[in-house]
Amino acid sequence: MNSRRHTDSGMSAPVEHVKLAGPAQGSDQSAVTSYQSTRGQSSPHPFATILLEGLAPDGGLYVPDHYPQIGHELEQWRNLSHAELAYEIIRRFAPDIPVPDLQAIVERTYTPARFGHPDITPITTLEPGLHLLGLSHGPTGAFKDHALQLLAELYEYELARSGGELNILGATSGDTGSAAEEAMRGRANIRVFMLSPHGRMSPFQRAQMYGIDDPHIHNLAIEGNFDQCQAIVKAIARDLDFKRTNHIGSVNSINWARIAAQVVYYVTAYLSVTQGSGQPVSFAVPSGNFGNLCAGHIARQMGLPIRQLILATNENNVLDEFFRTGVYRPRPSAETVATSSPSMDISKASNLERFVFDLVGRDPAQVRELWGQLSTTGQFDLSKTSDWQHLSEFGIVSGTSTHADRIATIRSTWERYGVEIDPHTAAGMSVGSRYRDPDVPLICLETALPVKFAATIVEALGRPPARPARFAGIEDRPQHVTVLPANAEQVKAFIQATIGQTEE
Ligand SMILES: *Cc1c(COP(=O)(O)O)cnc(C)c1O
Repeated sequence: MNSRRHTDSGMSAPVEHVKLAGPAQGSDQSAVTSYQSTRGQSSPHPFATILLEGLAPDGGLYVPDHYPQIGHELEQWRNLSHAELAYEIIRRFAPDIPVPDLQAIVERTYTPARFGHPDITPITTLEPGLHLLGLSHGPTGAFKDHALQLLAELYEYELARSGGELNILGATSGDTGSAAEEAMRGRANIRVFMLSPHGRMSPFQRAQMYGIDDPHIHNLAIEGNFDQCQAIVKAIARDLDFKRTNHIGSVNSINWARIAAQVVYYVTAYLSVTQGSGQPVSFAVPSGNFGNLCAGHIARQMGLPIRQLILATNENNVLDEFFRTGVYRPRPSAETVATSSPSMDISKASNLERFVFDLVGRDPAQVRELWGQLSTTGQFDLSKTSDWQHLSEFGIVSGTSTHADRIATIRSTWERYGVEIDPHTAAGMSVGSRYRDPDVPLICLETALPVKFAATIVEALGRPPARPARFAGIEDRPQHVTVLPANAEQVKAFIQATIGQTEE
C-alpha cells in the first residue's frame, strides 16, 4: 500500500501552503478528456456518456482522468457573472459539449429568476472573517437545486442529441426528491418516478413534492420507510432487462455532473470574500453523502486556495469517525438515528470513494482492495498505512454536532447577527467555529432554508421561521401521489403501465 502517484497525468500534489498551479499549457489542453472508474476495471468514457450513468460497471465511481488547473486564470474571473463562471468550470469537465451549447445551458440554468437572487449564491458577512454562502435560494430551498437544475438541462440536451428518452427512478426522504422533480418537470423525453416513505415526511416536504402538477412527474408513496424505498430502487436497478427496455436512469448523488456543478460555488464564494491572488479561505460543509465536500475537495485539487475543508456531521457521524481515525465503518441503516438535520441522517457516504481514490495516490487496485474488505468485513482501516500520513495535505478536518449544538447555534446566529439559519447550516457553523483561524476567512455553506424545518426553529427561537412568499400556502395545493405497498414488482408494474399509456 505505498505506490503514490499524485503527480501523474497533470494532477498536482495537494499543497499545505497556498500555491497557485503553474501556467497551464493553454486552457483547453487542461480539460478532462475521459472519465475512469475508481476501481479501474471499466473502460474510459467521455463526459456525455457518463452523464446519464450511475455507478461504473465495475461498481466504482467515475472520476476525471486529471483535475484541470485553474490557478492563474482565477484572478481574471473576478468580474464574471455566476453563469459565466459556471461555464468556465463545467467546460473543463465537459469538453465534448460544443461551446455555444454549453454557454446556452448554463445561461438558462443560473438565472436570478430561477435562483431568487441577483447574485445566485449571495454572501452574507456575519462579522469580519465569517461568511454565510447562500445556496438555498433555488426553487426548492435547498442547495441540491444548484446541481439538479444543471443536470436537468444537460439531460434534456443529451436526449435531444441522442434521440433517447429517460425515466428517472429514485428514492427520497425529502430534499433530493423535490429538487429532482422541480428540475425535471416539463422536460422533453423525461419522466420521474420518485419513491418516498408514506406518511413519514414533514407536511412542508409533502406539499413541496406531491404538490407538483405535471403529467410526467409521478410520486409513489411506499408503505414502508426510506430504506425500503431505496431497496426497491436498487432491486429494479439490478433487473438489467427491465432497466434497458424502460430507459431507467437516476439522479443520485454519485452522479459526476452533480459534483462538477457544485465546484462552481466554491469558486464564486472564494472570489466574493477575497481581494487578491492566493489569499486562502476555509469552508464549513454540512455533510451526509460527501457530495458537497467532495466538490470542495475537487475545487482545492484544481488549485483554488482553500486552507481547510471543515466537514460537519450530525449524530450520524460515520464521516467524522473516518477523518479522525482512518476507520471507515458504514452503519446498518437500522442504526441511523433520526435527527433535527434529517438530510444528513446518512450512515454510508456514497461519494467517499472518490476521495479515498485520491488519498491512495489514484491507485484503483487499492480502492478495489479496500471496498472488497468493506463488503466482507463491513469496514476498512487506513490508519496504519503510509497513505494516511498524507491526509493533512488534503486540508480536510471534521467534527460532530449534536442537537444541542445546532439549537444553540441557530439561537446565537439570530441573536448576534439577526440571521435565521436552518439546522443543517447550523451543524456546519457549529463545527466550523471549532476550527476557526482569525487570519483565514471562514465561509459556512448554507444548505437549506429554515422554513423547511419549522419545528426545530420554533424550538430554538420560540417562533416559526420566516416563510418566503413563493412558499405561501403550498400546503393547500392539491397533492398528486399514488400509495403502493413496499413491493418492487408492483412499482415495476406501475412504471410499465404509465410508460405504455403515454406512448399511445
Ligand atoms: C443533502 C443535504 C446535505 C448533505 O449533503 P451531502 O452532499 O450529501 O454531503 C446537507 N444539508 C442539506 C440541507 C441537504 O439537503
